[in-house]
Amino acid sequence: MNANPLALFWEGFTIESYSQPDAQSLLIRLQPADGYLPCCSGCHQHTHAIHDSSIRRVRERDLLHYRVWLEVPVRRVRCATCGPKLEQIRWLPGRQHLTAGMIQWVESLVRLMPIQHVAHLLGLHWHTVKAIDHQRLKREVTEPDKCRIRRLVMDELALFKGHRYATVVIDADTQQVLWVGEGRSRAAVRPFFEWLG
Ligand SMILES: [Zn+2]
Repeated sequence: MNANPLALFWEGFTIESYSQPDAQSLLIRLQPADGYLPCCSGCHQHTHAIHDSSIRRVRERDLLHYRVWLEVPVRRVRCATCGPKLEQIRWLPGRQHLTAGMIQWVESLVRLMPIQHVAHLLGLHWHTVKAIDHQRLKREVTEPDKCRIRRLVMDELALFKGHRYATVVIDADTQQVLWVGEGRSRAAVRPFFEWLG
């Protein structure tokens, strides 16, 4: 049995070394695990042939009181079908600089508190958290079905300490937000009714 529980987290990799850049940070260097063949991100076939490799520094979820960064040697495989192609790492999708676990953690938190608070809590940039939330909303929120809309609720809310207003339109039956626009005049909500047709 492996005595290091961290070995569970990063499929295909093991820990080569770690250091503490400062009192709050932990930097973990990973290396490819023995006997684990990288997988082509194009066709998902495993291959021996490595084209090249580059180190990517990514943010992982916090561990106890540490902010955790990983240095991951990400390989490009020389795939027989696709040519040179980035390896697929399930816990580090695409060209992300945050692990899938970290992204999931951000997504859980933005459901509970404002973006600004999540950014502060995790030490991420506001725009990073915003972009993750935006992707989550695109995935989870479906375009409203105009044909099913029967009753509307319209309300206004103050922006920037009450100097400007926004209007929000909600489907009274499903509680889904249908539209948000700046302003509270008749002209401001016209685009909504144009959309509704
Ligand atoms: Zn391939």
